[in-house]
Amino acid sequence: MALITETSLRSRLAQGLPNPYPIAAGDLLTPAANDFLKSRGIAIQRLKAEAPAALPAEPAPEAPLLPVGVSGRHVHLSPEHVEALFGEGYQLTTLKELSQPGQFAAQETVTLIGPKGVLQNVRILGPSRGASQVEISRTDGFALGVKPPVRLSGDLEGTPGITVAGPKGAVVLTQGLIVAKNHVHMSPDDAQRFEVSDGDRIILQTRGDRPLAFTDVVVRVNPRYALDVHLDTDEANAAQLNTGDTVQMIGKNGVFTRAERG
Ligand SMILES: [Zn+2]
Repeated sequence: MALITETSLRSRLAQGLPNPYPIAAGDLLTPAANDFLKSRGIAIQRLKAEAPAALPAEPAPEAPLLPVGVSGRHVHLSPEHVEALFGEGYQLTTLKELSQPGQFAAQETVTLIGPKGVLQNVRILGPSRGASQVEISRTDGFALGVKPPVRLSGDLEGTPGITVAGPKGAVVLTQGLIVAKNHVHMSPDDAQRFEVSDGDRIILQTRGDRPLAFTDVVVRVNPRYALDVHLDTDEANAAQLNTGDTVQMIGKNGVFTRAERG
């Protein structure tokens, strides 16, 4: 609390008095000081007391952790394209089950042929699906001489194509070449736990030596999904992440709910 007198105001006159003149909560103005301001046409602004910072009822819970799966370059093939590349009636064989139930890495691989280079031994992921799709990193794009857009799986409208070669033939895809947009798979239970819905965009903070934030990770909710954040190799390399590492959720839909140094 302070007492504001005419003398104290006069001493500040040389520097100029603000208009309105702020009076902090609890401060008192002498009648002479009041008249002094009034006579100079200076209004009085009474400031409100600041609310004391509320103490959290309990310490903030740990930011929820999500496991990361790093996706290397791969292709999904339609049944027709499997036959065109490997022969009539050919069925893909499973090399390894993937984190999402029913999905597998096939033993078979293909070669991608771009205008500037080729990439060999590119893994096929099964099972076969409707439209063929080739997912590469931006770095792979430099090697091939192509510049695919960042897209979610299946969103292939207007994407460039690429030539895919197998042991029995080659197909020239007219579209389907993408850099996969980062996303997270989760079950409805997980979605409830993280308080998100299908289509939300979550903000993830990586930890470790090179902490980075991925601020627009698309949530995909399906009863068949296992919790897994899918990043491509460029993203994982930038953040020094490997498959099985964890990242923290620090916000959603453009709003940070926690601040983490990493
Ligand atoms: Zn995925």
